[in-house]
Amino acid sequence: MHRLLLLMTTRTYRASAFLEAAGRLGVPVVVGSDRPQVLSASNPAGNLTLDFSSPEEATQAIVEFDQKYPIRAVVSADDDGAILAAMASEALGLPHSPLRAVAAARNKLLMRQILAEAGIPSPHFSRFSVDDDPEDAARRVTFPCVLKPLFLSASRGVVRANDRAEFVAAFRRLVAILRRGEVIAQGGQLAEQVLVEDFIPGPEVALEGLLSKGKLKVLSIFDKPDPLDGPFFEETIYVTPSRFPISLQEAIASCTAKVAAEIGLREGPLHAELRANEEGVWIIEIAPRSIGGLCSRTLQFGEGISLEEMILRHALGFEVEHLERENSAAGVMMIPIPSPGILREVNGHEEAKRVPGIEDVRITIPIGQEVTPLPEGTRYLGFIFARDETPDRVESALREAHRRLTFIITPP
Ligand code: ADP
Repeated sequence: MHRLLLLMTTRTYRASAFLEAAGRLGVPVVVGSDRPQVLSASNPAGNLTLDFSSPEEATQAIVEFDQKYPIRAVVSADDDGAILAAMASEALGLPHSPLRAVAAARNKLLMRQILAEAGIPSPHFSRFSVDDDPEDAARRVTFPCVLKPLFLSASRGVVRANDRAEFVAAFRRLVAILRRGEVIAQGGQLAEQVLVEDFIPGPEVALEGLLSKGKLKVLSIFDKPDPLDGPFFEETIYVTPSRFPISLQEAIASCTAKVAAEIGLREGPLHAELRANEEGVWIIEIAPRSIGGLCSRTLQFGEGISLEEMILRHALGFEVEHLERENSAAGVMMIPIPSPGILREVNGHEEAKRVPGIEDVRITIPIGQEVTPLPEGTRYLGFIFARDETPDRVESALREAHRRLTFIITPP
């Protein structure tokens, strides 16, 4: 039976959700990972070690593997494998978004350039080198603006500046992140650049979608009820369905579809962030992947089908058009890291779980580990999940559960 190749690095939060979904579908899985799997020698058809930073070489390894163990679909669990998934699908003749499109959606500068050329409303933007003089750069931008890396995710390195002094400090802070060894290894030349965009005011939403032959199916629109005005852009609460008027939700969907088409994305999951204000709907970001962290747990389709199962069903060629999100409201809170240090204690876990509407509270950073807030950090303390009759009740439950949690963090 033809296999499903699941690309995931050891950094992923999504391994068990994707493996569980594949199990439900009864499809044999090959895990393509950046590190050798334990017991991989005893199951050569189930594991493939790949260098995600060399997608050409990794594609060659996948093509050779396919000759022995035929592959039916290649799915990346998150951002890390998106380019490799497109390249390998191309080589194997499987439906996929063009590599150029995936690469553009993984590069925030390229995305802005494509959208500006297409005449899609975009903030004014400029590019700087990490070696530029920040004082000089500060004279060439308008305020307020947002400085960001071209390729990182989860708001890492994204900083708002309201004046020249803030710009210079933010520039230096971002450059220090971009000069870290692991960041250079991940971004290569992209780590040498800084993107600066005009700050777009207004409430923000996230759209989760699935593209089939270029057509967008909106799976969910999440409201982000906490203001995201900077200086850092910590994600906290996501609640669905959206409480915005249907006409605005339609404008959000149609803006996302237009942006996906301009970039050339055609197949697979899509996660977009948009803002709305009196001038209309603005795309902040579009990514060829599904929602990050453990947030996908908020979504269920048809009879208990997870987002991961939707993605796998689509990749395997099954019909998903008829599957809609369940009727209840749902939400997640990504628990922000309040201060840097060592996580010593988490209190109130059981009390938080007892809040009506709360489904689960998961602390994902082990006690004793170092924690780093944004903009340098990459992780959240954990996730709170809620499901209830209305989005308002879900939001209140998430806030109450968070209030009941206390974190003891001591200086490193
Ligand atoms: P990442 O891929 O790391 O999440 P984004 O470009 O999506 O980076 O930026 C992270 C967050 O920063 C966004 O969700 C948004 O809240 C804020 N942000 C980024 N760019 C802008 C902008 N031009 N105007 C207003 N807010 C922005």
